[in-house]
Amino acid sequence: MTEAVQRKSQTAPFPFDNSYARLPEPFFSKVDPTPVSEPWLIKLNTGLAEELGLNTAALRRDGAAIFSGNRIPEGAEPVAMAYAGHQFGQFVPLLGDGRAILLGEVIDRTGTRRDIQLKGAGPTPYSRRGDGRAALGPVLREYIVSEAMHALGIPATRALAAVVTGDPVYREQVLPGAVFTRVAASHVRVGTFQFFAARGDHANLRVLSDYVIDRHYPELKTEERPYVALLKAVSERQAALIARWLGVGFIHGVMNTDNMTISGETIDFGPCAFMDAYDPAKVFSSIDQGGRYGYANQPGIGQWNLARLAEAMLPILDDDTEKAVEAANDILADYGRVFQTHWLDGMRRKIGLATSEDGDLALVQDLLARMNEGDADFTLAFRRLSAVAENDAAEEDFASTFRDPATIGPWLSAWRNRLTREDTSREERASDMRTVNPAFIPRNHRIEEVIKATVEDGDVSLFEALLEVTSRPYEDQPTFAAYAEPPKPGEEVLRTFCGT
Ligand code: AMP
Ligand code: MG
Repeated sequence: MTEAVQRKSQTAPFPFDNSYARLPEPFFSKVDPTPVSEPWLIKLNTGLAEELGLNTAALRRDGAAIFSGNRIPEGAEPVAMAYAGHQFGQFVPLLGDGRAILLGEVIDRTGTRRDIQLKGAGPTPYSRRGDGRAALGPVLREYIVSEAMHALGIPATRALAAVVTGDPVYREQVLPGAVFTRVAASHVRVGTFQFFAARGDHANLRVLSDYVIDRHYPELKTEERPYVALLKAVSERQAALIARWLGVGFIHGVMNTDNMTISGETIDFGPCAFMDAYDPAKVFSSIDQGGRYGYANQPGIGQWNLARLAEAMLPILDDDTEKAVEAANDILADYGRVFQTHWLDGMRRKIGLATSEDGDLALVQDLLARMNEGDADFTLAFRRLSAVAENDAAEEDFASTFRDPATIGPWLSAWRNRLTREDTSREERASDMRTVNPAFIPRNHRIEEVIKATVEDGDVSLFEALLEVTSRPYEDQPTFAAYAEPPKPGEEVLRTFCGT
């Protein structure tokens, strides 16, 4: 390397290496971000920037220009990705990034390739009638929720930056525009496979499969049938992921096949929400009128989406169609078992069980039924149960999360009885439970409060506070005690919006 080149690579903010842009033409369209009027960097995730090996000093200086799309950093090759998708069950053969532009990829400190994408950076060839823009409110929501998910230990895309553009966006109201910078293991979705399948382009279906095996599942390269193994691996990651969502009361809200990643990361935090009171039928999204994407429907929808992936991959699973169908069916049939195992393991840990017994499922179900009946706050109840595990005096606090505290008595007796067959100490059990039962989630009413303060008053202090408290969700943070509380009557958020 010459001295000049070396100096350049040290000061360039991103050491880009763009593998997706090297794929054949139908995978994407080259498109530059559309400049904005007056970009203002409201947040840079310096911790993530460092993890990605970026030049943080350069980003602090030039972040507004770069993360608004006004300046295309050296080495970037901006593209909008092509994909299809089932939206609420309806197949759309061409969706694509209508308001997202992939700047490029970097290899992070652990050697993992990560996408850096601007969301809301202006129109692309896939925008259809959309403006390619994002409003500040949904950008703040995605920032907060994706970082909170990560802090909870749940695979999710990350938030690198948020910029206010200085330009209005026109939705039902006029809103301040913003650009969100998202980092993902990749942005390949179930819908990417559907895009090529719908065009009958089996050659590129193979190119895509090889690409994602290389990038996300390199261990499958040597499998006898790598594409079958890929379908199975994606299915298992999604089953594990959705089990994790359920364990923290997360409702994605728009599990269309274009919003399901191949890497197994949670993506697209549109109308998503964490529920307060436990209700398996809970739906927040204003556009989800049939409750298709409600809390308890998520595992089934996950399987439905994977069936669409299997259909798309069918032509490449096996030369013999019957064998291809059989392989796909086996994987889809196994999804339920894999999900159930992850879910029950997670629930066992939430109630402090380190061993497993046949009656555990019934014990968990009984607790959930009582929580539903008693409108117990999902997060608070489990956190307080962790305290009961350590100290009986905490029982009243736990029981008070139920509308009628007496209704939980019989369950507590059954639980204590079950715990006699565990050999962890009470302290150990309580501390294990606190590593899976968060004290803090980004509650909807808090997110709304942040959006209101930022959008209406330009005050980002509540945004910073919510980010801080949710970055350490499993630690008691006494100064933030109010953030652990459910909404008071009247504060409760009933509906969330896509904001597109
Ligand atoms: P989503 O439901 O946010 O995953 O988006 C579904 C599809 O609509 C994707 O193809 C998006 O790129 C596109 N889309 C959403 N909002 C906009 C917008 N404001 N302008 C253009 N395309 C959009
Ligand atoms: Mg999407």
